Amino acid sequence: MKKAVIVGSGIAGLAAAIRLQNKGYQVQVLEKNAYPGGKLTQIAGNGFRFDAGPSLFTMPNLVTELFEISGKKSTDYFNFDQLDILCNYFYEDGTQIVASADIDTFAAEMEQKTTDSAEKVKKHLEKSAFIYEVTSDQFLNKSLHKLSSFLSLSTLVAVLKSPFLNIFSSMNQVNESSFSDSKTIRLFNRYATYNGSNPYKAPGILNIIPHLEFGLGAYLPRGGMHEITNSLVELAKEIGVEFHFNQEVITIETERSLVKSVTTASGNYAGDIVVCNADIHTVYEKLIPSAKKLQEVDQQERSSSALIFYWGIDGEFPELDVHNIMFTEDYKAEFHHIFESKTISEDPTIYINITSKKIASDAPKGKENWFVMINVPSVYGQDWEMMIAQARKNILSKISRILGQDIEKLIHFEQQLTPQLIQDKTYSFKGSLYGTSSNNRFAAFFRHKNFSSQYKNLYFCGGSVHPGGGIPLALLSAKIIDKLIK
Ligand SMILES: Cc1cc2nc3c(=O)[nH]c(=O)nc-3n(C[C@H](O)[C@H](O)[C@H](O)COP(=O)(O)OP(=O)(O)OC[C@H]3O[C@@H](n4cnc5c(N)ncnc54)[C@H](O)[C@@H]3O)c2cc1C
Repeated sequence: MKKAVIVGSGIAGLAAAIRLQNKGYQVQVLEKNAYPGGKLTQIAGNGFRFDAGPSLFTMPNLVTELFEISGKKSTDYFNFDQLDILCNYFYEDGTQIVASADIDTFAAEMEQKTTDSAEKVKKHLEKSAFIYEVTSDQFLNKSLHKLSSFLSLSTLVAVLKSPFLNIFSSMNQVNESSFSDSKTIRLFNRYATYNGSNPYKAPGILNIIPHLEFGLGAYLPRGGMHEITNSLVELAKEIGVEFHFNQEVITIETERSLVKSVTTASGNYAGDIVVCNADIHTVYEKLIPSAKKLQEVDQQERSSSALIFYWGIDGEFPELDVHNIMFTEDYKAEFHHIFESKTISEDPTIYINITSKKIASDAPKGKENWFVMINVPSVYGQDWEMMIAQARKNILSKISRILGQDIEKLIHFEQQLTPQLIQDKTYSFKGSLYGTSSNNRFAAFFRHKNFSSQYKNLYFCGGSVHPGGGIPLALLSAKIIDKLIK
């Protein structure tokens, strides 16, 4: 049997392992941590359980198909429910918008709560669906770096030039031309943060993202997001994948144009192919210095990072749902802080995820598990201790103001996840959540490819390479590798 070695057991590493084992390889996964899943893990304490990283689950078919290609019934391992409410939005003037998954209901709500019409909202979502239809096959499902992926270069150029895709305008410019109310514009600009980008710089084509929620649906796995990791590890083990935890890969050995093996502190693992799920920057910087790519990867702007407070809250808040957003009044200034001054805004937009709304066992009776997150810059030597203490105060004061209760008094459990910890735990360069940012119109082409041009049997998957970060795209990266490997 040919051997495949996977470096890292993040969601993409798990998907690659399952795909390659099904392809006839004997797969070994080497993971530096004692646990699988990378960012997709969980924490618990004082009777509360929290998904530690991702909280929004879209395109579940990319998970279930891993069971299907392994000849298993996905529902024997993994189950999830579609959410009726995508998000509850809160603004400082007291406006609350409930984003129903049903487009007509959502559009009517927008017409009632903003100065924008239902018709405009529906048109925007139709366009989002159109961008998805036109581009997903080319940009998400295939390698962007193989000529054979394109019907022809002229078709690609024609697609890119289409005014409907808004490649030459920023997402904010497109949204400002579609809507007049700042509440609507902020609501749709926020989708840039789904891949860690800045809506004032990222191209309008990112208006594809609302379609993932409104068109394809938002879901919550039964048992929480961490069940994605658990069920895939169970499947992988069942079909014969071998896992080695606490095994940090320190070098990848090469011989002329081939990689031969990888080495950890306690052993050497030979592979006919090696797939790196670790952040591409870390791979070039630390594992394979003979590769000539570090400088190129180094020059690219990183995506945003996150600061998370896991709070066990003594109380229940009926006005909150699973996903909630409390908007800043000055969204542009917030992104200036994140990407230009690399600081934290005094009035950040706050995301609160509460899985106990649907999964009763995630919090003791009468309490809620709050995952409170703000977008922050990646690590550039800032004074994080000071910035985090200040942010905590500002967050508490904003939530308390909006909900009309002193929230600090209700905190019965607390843990934090900081950009530095994200970097330390998963080796994501500078703690960025999604690899490089998409803050320029050609970002999709600059994102690192899924294979090495220098070493014929070296491949890359995960959020730091094509097609991008987030669970669905990381899963697609493994699917692209599956297509590339004979
Ligand atoms: C706080 C937060 C919120 C997020 N929210 C969402 C969301 O709501 N929805 C969404 O879709 N996405 C979200 N994301 C992004 C999502 O988590 C990631 O894009 C996705 O999990 C990427 O997984 P990955 O496969 O790239 O690898 P990672 O999860 O980064 O895993 C890489 C693995 O490689 C291991 N590794 C690294 N170097 C080595 C080495 N040398 N040797 C051995 N092992 C190594 C690491 O330990 C890690 O386990 C969020 C991320 C975070 C942190």
